[in-house]
Amino acid sequence: MRIVFLGPPGAGKGTQAEIISKKKKIPHISSGNLLREAVDAGTETGIKAKYYIEKGLLVPDQIVVDIIKDRIVKNDFKAGFILDGFPRTLSQAKVLDETLKKLGNGLDIVFYFSVSKESVVLRLSGRRMCVNCGANYHIKYVPSSRDGICDKCGGKLNQRADDKSETILERLKVYHEQTEDLIEYYKRNGILKEIAGDISNIEMITKNILDSIDLAEKRLNRARSGLN
Ligand code: AMP
Repeated sequence: MRIVFLGPPGAGKGTQAEIISKKKKIPHISSGNLLREAVDAGTETGIKAKYYIEKGLLVPDQIVVDIIKDRIVKNDFKAGFILDGFPRTLSQAKVLDETLKKLGNGLDIVFYFSVSKESVVLRLSGRRMCVNCGANYHIKYVPSSRDGICDKCGGKLNQRADDKSETILERLKVYHEQTEDLIEYYKRNGILKEIAGDISNIEMITKNILDSIDLAEKRLNRARSGLN
């Protein structure tokens, strides 16, 4: 299954992508994580990206597209992938479609996480990330067992620079102006599935996503075996 997770920052895409990736044994490709890795490594790409990330702006298409294309073309993702945070603009979506087409396939399903602005602000302002392994927590909803320490690796938990309140509002504005159009784009392609992301029960959201993936898989298998 080739899956995209679409939605505003703080909608729970990363959390769900991690869970679904393990359950379905397909890689989780997060453009935000890839960019942060480049920033931490101090690469040329990272130095350019840092400026935009810290301001809550989108990193220019060319930089992100190169990173993602490289990843998709170089790796043989036979079982599929979950793209989290990419695409974020119409031009990124079109490059993705072309890249997959050249590889002889396309996207199977795009999950749109619909959440209220209030939830987003609450989630992002309480989010903490492990500086070592990148695991995500929330001071109220998903707390670590020891304050400020990662349960998985013992690393220190920090607030992301772009999760500070001023930057959160800028990121939401950018989402509204540059990413929301993708909902229509994928709806027109007939592969959009809306997920109610405001539910505070993480397991329930996972179940809804898995049910939709199962249905889509069945449909694909039926089509492949010519029974349709
Ligand atoms: P995320 O971890 O997905 O919230 O992304 C963090 C930041 O990385 C975003 O606010 C952008 O600055 C940048 N970023 C991540 N993905 C993209 C993308 N597809 N296009 C442009 N910028 C991106």
